[in-house]
Amino acid sequence: MKILIVEDEKLLAESLKMLLCSKGFEADTVFDGESGVAYALLGVYDLIVLDVMLPKIDGIRAAEIIREKHCAAPILMLTARSEVDDKVAGLTAGADYYLTKPFDSRELLACVNALLRRQGREVDELVFGNTRLDLGAAALICGENSVRLSSREFEVMRMLMTAKERHISKEALLTKVWGYESNAVENHVEVYVGFLRKKLAGIGSDIRIEAVRRLGYHLEAGASEARSKNF
Ligand code: CA
Repeated sequence: MKILIVEDEKLLAESLKMLLCSKGFEADTVFDGESGVAYALLGVYDLIVLDVMLPKIDGIRAAEIIREKHCAAPILMLTARSEVDDKVAGLTAGADYYLTKPFDSRELLACVNALLRRQGREVDELVFGNTRLDLGAAALICGENSVRLSSREFEVMRMLMTAKERHISKEALLTKVWGYESNAVENHVEVYVGFLRKKLAGIGSDIRIEAVRRLGYHLEAGASEARSKNF
């Protein structure tokens, strides 16, 4: 689970990051609204913690832009303000929940977990076509057949099965599965998609990982019509 923290008070941003990392989340921090929007739109975050009073673009406008660009990650808005008008503005702009500073760390963690649960991030299997991805066992299952996935294969497959027919860019896969710091390149994504295609075929799955140039990958299931070119 990757969480984006947009908060200009650097000490608070760092302590939130430490708190979330101590609970097994990955967290990135940015310190102004403009960077917050840019990071959010990478599409790699499961949740966005967004302060209201921010330099460059305030949190309310940032939430509006994030929603206008069809990023659906839940937004937990933070602010020192407590006026009803600001809460309404935040929620109208696209925030899912509002936490007033100062807040207790347990309160923040409870909100984060509730928002992630509401997004269905705690399901134990994903289904597409005739195939299930068991999230506990990291295995693909089709009828009587199953195959275990390596951890990277699993992460790639999980993103694809969550997005289903929607496209996922190679860049998003690379960032989310390999991380910003790694030396992996887009070719790694292609190699792992190749592994997954072999494993899907091996268990008789009707899932096809289709590639569309510049858009990335998406899933199709059932009989193949005009197959797009693999890349
Ligand atoms: Ca602030």
